[in-house]
Amino acid sequence: MPQLPSHAHYVVIGAGIHGLSTAMHLARKLAARGKTVGPGGTRIVVLDKTGIGAGASGIACGVIRNNYYQPAMRELMAHCVSVWETDPEAYSYHPVGYMQISPESMHAQVGTIYEQQKAIGYESAFVEGESECMRYMQGILADWQAKNITSVLHEKRGGYANNMASLEGLAAKAREAGVEIVEGVTVTSLHMSHGAGHVTAVATSAGVMGCDQVVVGVGPWINSIWNMLDLPKTVTIKGRDGKLNQGIPMWHYMALQEGTLGVDPDYQKTNDGRMPPVIHVDTDAPLYSDRDGRLITDKLWGLYYKPDFHFGGVQGGAMPAVVDRPADEVRVDPYGTRSPEFVVDDNFADMWTSALAFCQKRFEGQHAVYRKEPSGGIGCFTPDSFPVFDRFRENVYVIADSNHGYKMIGVGDLVSDELLGGKSALLEPFRFSRYAEGKLHPVSNSPFPWS
Ligand SMILES: Cc1cc2nc3c(=O)[nH]c(=O)nc-3n(C[C@H](O)[C@H](O)[C@H](O)COP(=O)(O)OP(=O)(O)OC[C@H]3O[C@@H](n4cnc5c(N)ncnc54)[C@H](O)[C@@H]3O)c2cc1C
Repeated sequence: MPQLPSHAHYVVIGAGIHGLSTAMHLARKLAARGKTVGPGGTRIVVLDKTGIGAGASGIACGVIRNNYYQPAMRELMAHCVSVWETDPEAYSYHPVGYMQISPESMHAQVGTIYEQQKAIGYESAFVEGESECMRYMQGILADWQAKNITSVLHEKRGGYANNMASLEGLAAKAREAGVEIVEGVTVTSLHMSHGAGHVTAVATSAGVMGCDQVVVGVGPWINSIWNMLDLPKTVTIKGRDGKLNQGIPMWHYMALQEGTLGVDPDYQKTNDGRMPPVIHVDTDAPLYSDRDGRLITDKLWGLYYKPDFHFGGVQGGAMPAVVDRPADEVRVDPYGTRSPEFVVDDNFADMWTSALAFCQKRFEGQHAVYRKEPSGGIGCFTPDSFPVFDRFRENVYVIADSNHGYKMIGVGDLVSDELLGGKSALLEPFRFSRYAEGKLHPVSNSPFPWS
């Protein structure tokens, strides 16, 4: 069993993207203030019940984009992309760009995203009209054939990163800055001061460790830590009409549907022989099976994909599936591809490979090379599917990204400022109080809950 110190100034629970990024940025900022970080100085201890990347960050598709309908999300993502850009090599970041390709029902909303990207200096191009979109796409990928598309937002920054490689890069930087990362230690409960004002110690599978501050970055396990903190299982949300909606569950789960087509990643090169941007398509054109011609859906649907050497093929996904049971009844462990319940099935394989063929002729008839291996995983979502970044019980900072936060590598940077007494304007729109106060983010027409 690993040895824990009897006390740490900062205990970070979870060695995913947020725990590692927060620990690294915090250590660097303390050092910049002349403090020693590590044994004898300020101790920042990251605990993970399994190991680095054992959660959602380690299986994430890795897409990094700015495209969000909510201004606060866009501003936060612009900051995050700039953090990815600080060290593309260490973070295994591929800045190939990102495309949001949409039907008429999303045209106007995506147009506002483009306008606001211009306003914040985030470079993108916006193409409008069915024939213009077809021409633009075929100028990049000659076999483009997706129907009912009337706008293309082409973000020139962003792209994707390799999940485990980026986490190893972050962990190396954190350790170099004096952070202690302890793997194989589970936090089992939190000791509260009298009156439950603050957390005085964390109880773990390797003993009790006193602490001054706790950072929670546990991704899909947030419901269990929320319970340890004895926080409310339901919330009241003030709607846009001013009405109070009571008893809304704080957490719900969805299963992310992802897979890989086993072709050479080079198969998806652009007309000029380069790696293409990450492609995300939403459309209301009917989708027929590329295997047997049956109608899969005639409702709004979407997919995303990218050639990826790390996954060894063209990898991507589609809309998530609802996990229809209360959060306390969802079996999070074993997680990810080891879960007996939450990996994708053949319906996903048919839908996604058919969707690829719908978009590009080169994917027609390729369903047989879909990789029949476990893929996908669950995520824990907030009531509005946007993050909660906030302090609870005085000294516990919760980073709950509502399962679209692999891209949010810069949140740890901002959280570390707040741990040191600052206030981040970028994090302000993500406080828990927004539900009671009705300060809600606008909702888009996208079929995805995270756009
Ligand atoms: C299949 C899939 C694909 C995704 N693709 C993308 C994408 O393309 N782009 C994007 O931006 N986001 C994506 N996401 C979402 C993204 O992966 C998550 O939002 C993000 O990784 C969460 O990071 P985290 O640091 O909060 O948690 P995690 O990465 O889940 O890490 C949490 C860690 O906490 C540890 N832990 C949990 N409980 C305890 C405890 N009690 N004691 C000690 N340790 C504990 C776990 O072992 C784990 O290692 C995807 C998610 C999934 C599931």
